[in-house]
Amino acid sequence: MTTATAEIEIRDPATDEVVGRVRPAGPEQVDDAVGRAVAAGRDWARTAPGDRAGLVKAAAVAVRAVAEELARLNETETGRPFDDGLGGVLAAAGTLEQYAELGPLHRGRSLQGNWSATDLMVPGPRGVVAVLTPWNDPVAVAAGLIGAALVTGNTVVHKPSERCPHLGRRFADLLASYLPDGVLTVVDGAGPTGALLAGHAGVDVVAHVGSIAAGRAIAEAAAGTGAKVLLENGGNDPLIVDDGVDPVWAAGQVALGSYANGGQVCVSVERVYCHAAVAEEFLAALAEEATRWVYRPSGEGEKALGPLVDRRQREHVHSHVTEALRDGAVAHVGGAVPDGAGAFYPATVLSGCTPQMRILREETFGPVAAVRVVESFEQALTEAIDDPHGLAATVLTPDMAHAQEAWRALPVGTVKVNAAFGGAPGGAAQPRGLSGAGFGYGPELLDEMTATKVVHVEPCPTRDAR
Ligand code: NAD
Repeated sequence: MTTATAEIEIRDPATDEVVGRVRPAGPEQVDDAVGRAVAAGRDWARTAPGDRAGLVKAAAVAVRAVAEELARLNETETGRPFDDGLGGVLAAAGTLEQYAELGPLHRGRSLQGNWSATDLMVPGPRGVVAVLTPWNDPVAVAAGLIGAALVTGNTVVHKPSERCPHLGRRFADLLASYLPDGVLTVVDGAGPTGALLAGHAGVDVVAHVGSIAAGRAIAEAAAGTGAKVLLENGGNDPLIVDDGVDPVWAAGQVALGSYANGGQVCVSVERVYCHAAVAEEFLAALAEEATRWVYRPSGEGEKALGPLVDRRQREHVHSHVTEALRDGAVAHVGGAVPDGAGAFYPATVLSGCTPQMRILREETFGPVAAVRVVESFEQALTEAIDDPHGLAATVLTPDMAHAQEAWRALPVGTVKVNAAFGGAPGGAAQPRGLSGAGFGYGPELLDEMTATKVVHVEPCPTRDAR
């Protein structure tokens, strides 16, 4: 693990060139940032919700104005193709605007008590929120947590991912420039700096989106301070290809789910259970589809596959693939580390994967479709369920009874039927198991960021009434 003070070097994952360095915040800087957040919290909590929302809305406009600059930084620091990154930045601006609208409408209840009493349930800010975010969708994820925290009257100390610190700082400093001093502070650093924040006595909520290991460490640290923890961890999402589907269409869905953003989406497809009746055609179509995912697409139907975030991530992905190949899986396409600069990894199709392999048991987070052929839909569903993660799952089936059984039975936060990605605005889910707990987005995130107080008010009796 990096020491808390060693300088962090960031390389462009497409070229290996050093594109920046940051010095991680140590205990004093973290203390200072939390102290400023505590001090700013008093006035911010008293600021009218409509006024808070107005500032967040103005910041969202400023984010749109520099969207291309942020997308370019995203590409340079993490390898995310420019258009994908731009989509993430625009989504971030939209999220800030949505929370600016929803914040002032976030309300409590009045209760039916005695005639002379007033009884209320009132949500209020929790205090200081530490926002710890990952690199794979860095701007949109940070915007959601920061936006929801701010509009509900909390102050924020934000530590963006050490893999895209310049992007994180540029985005958060821009937001902060629209806010009173101390309401949003950014600190640089990796896990050790995050750990200082997560265990700080002045922090009231630790909101983390990232790996299971970091989430576990954060939960342990927060247990010592009493901070509320919101964890949106990684997953190991299954996808079922049922009998009766068009295998070519299913291959397109699996490729999208497995290769978009280089397989580095929290809800990427990690395990594919394919019914034997369609397996041969499906695997042939998937192998063909995989070859269309290339760096710098120029031909008809080609799609952008950037490099992985860095060489460390590539080693992780390749270790899953090589172990699977060693234990009997077959690579139809890809599966080899290319020569040359950068952290590129090809779109890969494996079949013959078994439940014992790490590639089916743990999050790979790379452009790999790991396929296991099964004899029945029941077997697919049983194996999909038999996993300690609980983020999301997909079912491709023409059989509505199978779809119904699957969405009811899968112990995950999000189930998609006949689409690898998608969903209506406002949908928010709670991950389960190792994938975390709590609503990490959507209107319900406002509930997570507030504490509800019950208030009972009675008139003070006069002396005469005694
Ligand atoms: P990570 O957990 O390594 O880092 C995330 C953030 O936590 C970073 O800012 C990091 O510095 C910080 N951190 C790391 N260790 C810490 C510790 N001990 N204490 C406090 N903070 C610590 O994750 P990552 O590699 O940046 O991101 C990839 C992971 O994020 C994948 O597993 C992916 O599935 C997951 N993810 C989940 C969601 C979701 O909504 N569930 C969304 C995006 C990404």
